[in-house]
Amino acid sequence: MKITVKLGDQAETMVDIPEEKAIDTFLKVVRDLHMAKGFVSTRDTIVNTIPAIKPNMDTEKGVVEIAKNIDQVREYVKNNNLIFWKCPECGRVQYSFAKADESKRCINCDYEQEFKNIKPAAYVCPKCNASSYLFVVDGLEQIPCKFCKADIDLVWHEKQEKYVSPNMLK
Ligand SMILES: [Zn+2]
Ligand SMILES: [Zn+2]
Repeated sequence: MKITVKLGDQAETMVDIPEEKAIDTFLKVVRDLHMAKGFVSTRDTIVNTIPAIKPNMDTEKGVVEIAKNIDQVREYVKNNNLIFWKCPECGRVQYSFAKADESKRCINCDYEQEFKNIKPAAYVCPKCNASSYLFVVDGLEQIPCKFCKADIDLVWHEKQEKYVSPNMLK
């Protein structure tokens, strides 16, 4: 299945993907486009962007299928979390879009990570000022900024019961 995603005249990308991975990959493409163009890519902005992208989509069969299933895509976004995790096998820090009890494979070494113990997290990047809400697999205390890749430290905030970047501590 070929998917083309366009953000107005600003960005366009095409991927060829297996059918069963279509929604997952579609969301990754949307997020990567957001990132490349400096949009803040949160669960909400992804949900809000999908209808805006829809009229600009290519008429490839696969895209039409996805456009038809836009409610399914929205539901998927609502029910899945952006989870940052570090592969225990090869050490690669990466993110997945998944449910709390799901598992995903490492993009580098194919290790299968279960997302059993996830905690909410938020950061404001000291370098590019982007902010993001996400989840981390317990114990992950440094992640790359989704936008500029700067290292972000995360510390546990007792009161808010989530990890935050140090500049969010009061
Ligand atoms: Zn790995
Ligand atoms: Zn940044």
